[in-house]
Amino acid sequence: MAPQQSVMYKIQEADGSLSQHYGPLPTHLVPIDTGLRTAASMVVTPATSDASQEDPSEGFGPSKLGVRTTVDEPLSASQAIEVLQAGNRRFVQGDVKAGGLGPDKRRALASHGQRPVATVIGCADSRCPVEQLFDARPGDLFVLRNAGNTCTHAEGSMVGSVEYSVAVLETKMILVLGHTGCGAIMGATKLFLERSAKKYIEATCQKDAQKSTDQGCCKSKSSLLGLLDALVPVAERACVSLGGGSSTEEIAAHAVKVNVWRTINFLLSYSRIIREKVASGELELQGAIYNMSSGAVEFLGKSPKQAQLLNYDGHVVPSMGGLARQLS
Ligand SMILES: [Zn+2]
Repeated sequence: MAPQQSVMYKIQEADGSLSQHYGPLPTHLVPIDTGLRTAASMVVTPATSDASQEDPSEGFGPSKLGVRTTVDEPLSASQAIEVLQAGNRRFVQGDVKAGGLGPDKRRALASHGQRPVATVIGCADSRCPVEQLFDARPGDLFVLRNAGNTCTHAEGSMVGSVEYSVAVLETKMILVLGHTGCGAIMGATKLFLERSAKKYIEATCQKDAQKSTDQGCCKSKSSLLGLLDALVPVAERACVSLGGGSSTEEIAAHAVKVNVWRTINFLLSYSRIIREKVASGELELQGAIYNMSSGAVEFLGKSPKQAQLLNYDGHVVPSMGGLARQLS
């Protein structure tokens, strides 16, 4: 094994517990067991307590300068997932390692560019701060957030930003992260149920339009309503798959998962760059759901529709309309 090769390894503490790390093996540790499941894994135990030789990558992937920059190699998708999972475990356990950056690390980030471990599309909900829940530092994650972690239009900035992270920053993992108790999904669910009960907003618009021909309420529809409107198919799919008799809360909870797949499916459909990299095995898109109560992130894996969508050879279609319904 080359001295600087990055591997997953575990450290056995004095009390016998194991903690997982990634990066070049620290020289002050000695192996005690190499019989783990993967060839890249080893169990090591501290031979000294020399803090001056601490692995600078401890906490979030390998980083030669103490933070991840372009002098570091991109992480593979599987390595990225391991790092994200380890970071979330630290967050749940309250054993976070990401802290503030000193001047040297800030200068390193400013001077050497970024090499984030993964791209994460999360919800704008203030209770779901992506970096914190993965115990990440500046430079570790390329994060995109909006209400509902959605990507309903190809011509918006979301797809272009993801393509930038993949093509320029060389992230190999795109994680779409939904969360429990999502207000945007709940809003869309209520909108769907209102429409199902024949309480359509359009009906109100028509009534108002009759009262005032020069200022119908359709003209004053908010962008928020447009966002919720675009999420209604998610609630519809969740309602159908659950069957009758489900409560609003149950539908919304399932819609969170449906929405994660939908965002992944949109990205695969909208972006030829993403499709080609996924098809070649260079890139992975995976889903996950953050549980606000426990703090734990449930990793869902790849979209069930991935194989089907990789065969899609169409061009980007702005404001998808019919295709959007097919994909939801
Ligand atoms: Zn949300």
